This record gives sequence, structure tokens and C-alpha cells, in this order.
Amino acid sequence: MKNKPARKHNSQKHGPQTTAIHGGEPPRHGVGAPVGTPISRTSTFTFSSTAEMKLWAEGKSKAYIYSRYGNPTLSVAEGKIAALEGGEAAVVTASGMAAISSALLGVLKCGDELISTSQVYGGSYRLMRDVFPDMGIKVHQVGTDLAGLEELATPRTKCLYVETPTNPTLRLVDLNKAIAFAKKHKLIAIIDNTFATPVLQNPLAMGYDIVVHSATKALAGHSDVIAGVAVGNKHWMDRIRHMVIYLGGSMDPGAAYLLIRGMKTLGVRMERQCENAMIVARFLETHPKVARVHYPGLPSHPDHKLARKQMRGFGTMLAFDLKGGLPAARRFCDRVQLFLLAASLGGVESLVILPIYSSHYNMSAEELKRADVSPGTVRVSVGLEDAKDLIADLKQALA
Ligand code: PLP
Repeated sequence: MKNKPARKHNSQKHGPQTTAIHGGEPPRHGVGAPVGTPISRTSTFTFSSTAEMKLWAEGKSKAYIYSRYGNPTLSVAEGKIAALEGGEAAVVTASGMAAISSALLGVLKCGDELISTSQVYGGSYRLMRDVFPDMGIKVHQVGTDLAGLEELATPRTKCLYVETPTNPTLRLVDLNKAIAFAKKHKLIAIIDNTFATPVLQNPLAMGYDIVVHSATKALAGHSDVIAGVAVGNKHWMDRIRHMVIYLGGSMDPGAAYLLIRGMKTLGVRMERQCENAMIVARFLETHPKVARVHYPGLPSHPDHKLARKQMRGFGTMLAFDLKGGLPAARRFCDRVQLFLLAASLGGVESLVILPIYSSHYNMSAEELKRADVSPGTVRVSVGLEDAKDLIADLKQALA
């Protein structure tokens, strides 16, 4: 039988689930093509002649040379996440923090100013608090409601950094408002899309310049890899790739394989995990020991209306405060059996954590208040287990 002509996947034409499975993959038709992605387990690549090496050195050849600069498995992961986020290109990195720091350092230089929402992942916050001032980069903070944003802009402001929904209390930033401000002041808009994923919102289509992710979370989805991505146009991705090459936060090909495999099921995992999260949030809201549930899908959440407007679902993450404060929160976390007491999120396993002992460690009472984290806040990452089993575990842990 004759080989079929190679057909290319087209993310403009295909749906998001088809894109997740086939986007970024090489044509796989004919006899003997592997369907799974081969791991290019190599640090370096051969050249057939010094003439070809010279072309590479002159920037005239796109050949792979060394895996910190690029690798075929990394390229598949980059093509897939670029297709999912609707970006021209992507760069995969050794962690979410490598993507965030490389993106910010690709955009900012000494003397520049950055405006960031104050409720961001604790690691991003500490990077801006502890490292950037020493590099001559001034950071201004604004609440998720963006109140007073105009007053923070100066001629030196270069970049707007937002995260929505936020970690851990799931507040939302109005994506339209934030991008309108960035455009007006010609700022480079960067967004951490880890919690929403491209399944729930696509900031690049709204005009954001760079999307970053902790791909450790829902993109990879199985709590078995540390990974990051940045997505955007070719110009910004070239800048970020240079930062990754210089600073060394490149992804390992084995990690890229796990990320590729995880992304193929992102859509179905998100759909079911969002359903589970809604069931868990509703249960917690009616529990007599619970003071407050933070889940954008509940009408009681302050950003519920905004979530309905700008997201295609309410997410897999929630947080709640117990009436008994920190002692009650610790008791709950020490009693769960099916939920695991562990940092991180977005995997198939349901997890609980106290942010003050994990993402928000090393923060003053004032900083915690600004981040809307109370000592008794419990963060929950809802996984793929059967909802009835999750509820049974919550019931026994709260009893
Ligand atoms: N962004 C968010 C929203 C996160 O939750 C995290 C980690 O928890 C990060 C970034 C950092 O990612 P990584 O741990 O993969 O470096």
C-alpha cells in the first residue's frame, strides 16, 4: 500500500482537544512512524561538516546543536503549547519560575519599572521583592481590583504582570481592564495563566504579549515533573530563549516528554476537575465548620460575575477558611486520607495545603493580608477522583 500524503495539523481549523493531541507533532503517516513522541535523550547533536557549523554560528542554520539551545522533543512541547495558547511560538523551561524569571528579565533592564498585581504566586512575589530591587528594577503593586493603577504608571514603567485567578484565594483580575491599561501606556503585558490554563481563557487573543505557566501544574497534570512555559510572538520568544540559554533554565527532554503526554489530555482533565471542584466548593459552603469558601464558581465569590464573563469554567482550585482558624485548619489537613497533604496543584490527585507553610512562607502579617491569605486558609487542588469519595473524605476530616 502506498504511503498517504503527509497532512499537517492546523490549530486554526481544529478544535482544542484535537490541537492538544496533534498540535506541535511532526507528520506521523506512512510505515513505521512512532505515534508517541520520541525522547531525544541527548545533550548534543552532530554536524556533517565545519561548513554547516559555520552556518549555525552565523545564524543561518536552525540545526540543533546542544540541548540547552533546543532539542526535537522540546520543539514538540513548544509547538503544542503555542498551538493551545494561540501563540506564534513558545519556550519550554526547567520550571515555572524559570519561565517567569526569564520572561521578566527578557523584558526588563536596570532602571525599568514593573507593575504587578500583589496577589501572585509566592515565588513570583519573592523574586520581585528580594531580587529585582538589587538589579535596579522597581516593582509597584496593585490589588486585583486594579484600583489606583493609573497613578502607578511612570515614564519608566515597562511591564504589567498579572496572575488570574490568583494563588491561593482565587481572586480575578479584569483581563479587559488590565490589557487596556497596558496598551494605553505601551507596556508589555505578561500573564501567569497557570490556574486557568488555555482551556478556560486565552489572554494572547485579548492582546497580552506573553503568557507564562508553571507547566508543573495542570498542563503536565500528573504531579510527576517540574516544568515551565512561555508563549507569545517570535520577537518575545527569541528574547526569552536567549535568557534561558544564558541563565540555564532549559527543560530536560524527559520532562518535555511528560509535558507533551500530559497536555494531550488537558481538556478532558480540566472539564472533570472543574466539575469536581464545583461539587467540593458547594459541599464546603454548607458545612457548619466552614467560615468562607473561595471559589469563583460560587455566587458568593466576589469575582463570580467577572469569572462568568472572562472564563469558560471556574477552575480546579479553591480555598476555604475554617471557623476555628489555624488550629482547625491544621486539624483538617492532618486528618485527610484521600486528599494528600502536599504542595503544588493541578494534578490528577486531590491535594490540600496551608499556604502559610508553603507558597506564602516567609511573609509578614502585612504581606499576607495584602495577598488575602489568613493563617487558617486551606488551599485545595481538586483532582480526578470520584466526587463522592472526595466528599466522604472531607466529611470525615471535618467531623
Ligand atoms: N505560578 C503559579 C501560579 C504557581 O502556582 C507556581 C507554583 O506553585 C509557579 C508559578 C511556579 O512554578 P514552578 O514551581 O513550576 O517553578
